Amino acid sequence: MVPRVIFGQGSFDQLGEILLPKRRNSDAPFIFLVDDFFENREFAQRIPLMFNDELIFVSAEEEPKTEQVDILVSRIKERYEEQPSGIVGIGGGTLLDLAKAVAILLNNNGLAQEYQGWDLVSKPSLYHVGIPTISGTGAEVSRTTVLLGPEKKLGINSDYTTYDQVVLDPDLTKTVPKEQWFYTGMDCFIHCIESLNGTYLNAFSESYGEKALELCKDVFLEDIPEDESRDKLMMASWHGGMSIAYSQVGIAHAMSYGLSYLLGIKHGIGNCLVFQHLDEFYPKGVELFQKMLEKHKIDLPKEVCAHLTQNDFDILVNVALGMEALWENALGKEWKKIMTPERLQAIYQKI
Ligand code: NAD
Ligand code: ZN
Repeated sequence: MVPRVIFGQGSFDQLGEILLPKRRNSDAPFIFLVDDFFENREFAQRIPLMFNDELIFVSAEEEPKTEQVDILVSRIKERYEEQPSGIVGIGGGTLLDLAKAVAILLNNNGLAQEYQGWDLVSKPSLYHVGIPTISGTGAEVSRTTVLLGPEKKLGINSDYTTYDQVVLDPDLTKTVPKEQWFYTGMDCFIHCIESLNGTYLNAFSESYGEKALELCKDVFLEDIPEDESRDKLMMASWHGGMSIAYSQVGIAHAMSYGLSYLLGIKHGIGNCLVFQHLDEFYPKGVELFQKMLEKHKIDLPKEVCAHLTQNDFDILVNVALGMEALWENALGKEWKKIMTPERLQAIYQKI
């Protein structure tokens, strides 16, 4: 679990104070990895830079890659004689995952791809702070950083991945465009549905999942003031992340990984594209999802898989079926008898 967290509108301005005792000396900088949406915006002036701290703007256009992590790590190692005091990630799931991975690799030798998997990290990561600017993924609280590697899209799942400190300031999400708000928010909603309907469910996950689902319903189905809605979605993301930390996600995530791997479709929208067709598996969840789509007048892209070849479908199906734990969570130990490659392809063909 994340050991330290602050929450509240405007809480970002406490960051300088939080970092101060963690500064080892004036030669050991903090490296800020910030979503390049904020470049040349007023917000960038509020980042509490001191001494030789460095601000690196990174595009979230593409989801994080192992190679990108390796390049950032070698750049930091070459540039500073001292190990930095820490890494601060500011942005959505993309930047939050990138910053986690950089913090791990600064203290563990080798390449990022060598750590993709479960509990392969042996040494604690560098002190790292996560500050979400869009709500939904739960990346701010989870013990994984999902990276696209040369061979697979897989997380570095470890106890050292989790942030040492998180700053939850809902005001930072004010500028998120509506569609992106919806897609990333639905990531959280789908985390709840998949966790609550999974065979891995336990009282720990259920308690967080139920709270997150209640908050998502308030945000996406009720008419509440905007600032309250931002507060609630940020806490929904947190609780949704906590819920899957002790259980697992399910079918939408397994299939969305395939879409991301083959077509570069981003996580939030990929989950939505899949989830709309999963009413056999998650009937109540899909019904709520359709209501949310309607209420917010979101038109999902169509015919995304219409022109794929059989070879493409084979790749989609293989990547998705490779996520064994997700299927076992969704369908039980005998999942292979239920979800055959043909059945899975038929769902992809609807997208
Ligand atoms: P994102 O970080 O990819 O950002 C989406 C878009 O929103 C980008 O264009 C970004 O620039 C923009 N944006 C972010 N904050 C903004 C703001 N305040 N104002 C305006 N624009 C803003 O989106 P995401 O959905 O949060 O993250 C997706 C990533 O999260 C994927 O890489 C996925 O694999 C990862 N993920 C990780 C976990 C985990 O537990 N580690 C869980 C789920 C998803
Ligand atoms: Zn997700």
